[in-house]
Amino acid sequence: MIRLPRKILLLAWRKRLAGVAVAALLLVGMESICPAAEPPSFSGQQAFAHLAAICKLGPRPSGSPAMEKQRAMLVEYFRAAGGTVTGQAFQIRQRHSGAVVRMENLIIEWHPERRDRVLIGAHYDTRPFPDRDSVDPKGMFIGANDGASGVALLMELAPAMPAIKGEVGVDFVLFDGEEYVFAPRDPYCLGSTFFARQYSDKQQSAAKSSAGRPSQRYRCGVIVDMVADSNLEIWQEQHSVSWPDTLPVVEAIWDVAARMKVQQFVARPKHTIQDDHVPLRMIARIPTCDIIDFDYPHWHTSDDTPAHCSAESLEAVGRVLLQWLREQP
Ligand SMILES: [Zn+2]
Repeated sequence: MIRLPRKILLLAWRKRLAGVAVAALLLVGMESICPAAEPPSFSGQQAFAHLAAICKLGPRPSGSPAMEKQRAMLVEYFRAAGGTVTGQAFQIRQRHSGAVVRMENLIIEWHPERRDRVLIGAHYDTRPFPDRDSVDPKGMFIGANDGASGVALLMELAPAMPAIKGEVGVDFVLFDGEEYVFAPRDPYCLGSTFFARQYSDKQQSAAKSSAGRPSQRYRCGVIVDMVADSNLEIWQEQHSVSWPDTLPVVEAIWDVAARMKVQQFVARPKHTIQDDHVPLRMIARIPTCDIIDFDYPHWHTSDDTPAHCSAESLEAVGRVLLQWLREQP
């Protein structure tokens, strides 16, 4: 693990913080009229602005200069929002060229003093090429839905995290190397596999130590991936419902969606997906479900751009996840 340097805040974020400060002052002034201030809500428009800003960096495959820029931007952003940000660096060897590629997961902790935790994860790398593109499979892949959408959703959840009450702390984990894939046999989920092994080793050595128990443990996890399709349908994912310890996580989230009348969540299983939840569940033993819309017509094509994403879709998923987090016992 390494700690990352502090830099200047993003201008947009500064403006937003200023807006929050003004709103807070107004709310304090209104306290005599209103009994309690509303906790921060999830804005689809803001989440979409984050998605667009990430896409402006260009393609962001692992090890690229744009990925470095994105990482620096995210570190600044989450620190400004009050998160404790740690980088988890590792290296891999590219299968074909033999080149060593440096990768880094980002862990953002909220209420790090709480022992029991929930993990919310998303990958922040993009596929090197749009290899399913019928016109130019070696062209440019922006990854607005497959890459930026999960990151944007976590960015917009951040302002609400300091006010999460109860006994459960939340960690956002941004995984590198989810799809550093150049050929069909290249491995997926490099960042989440590394993270899961580190976590598993730590839990095991803590169990053997005199304390007998780790200082922190994840109760469960949720991966968000491809959650901005303007025609959003979130079906339950087959691995997630087949694992007995993970099924209750799925049921609780879809139950929140039903109560909130968020129609985009369909309470039936459909696709089986190899995503970052698989190493988290199989290696780290964290019951982790995948929230993903796999019926995206622009998947792995050069058309995976902000034009095919929407603020409404991000808001649907963001509101449900935020409510689910607030209901953690
Ligand atoms: Zn992908």
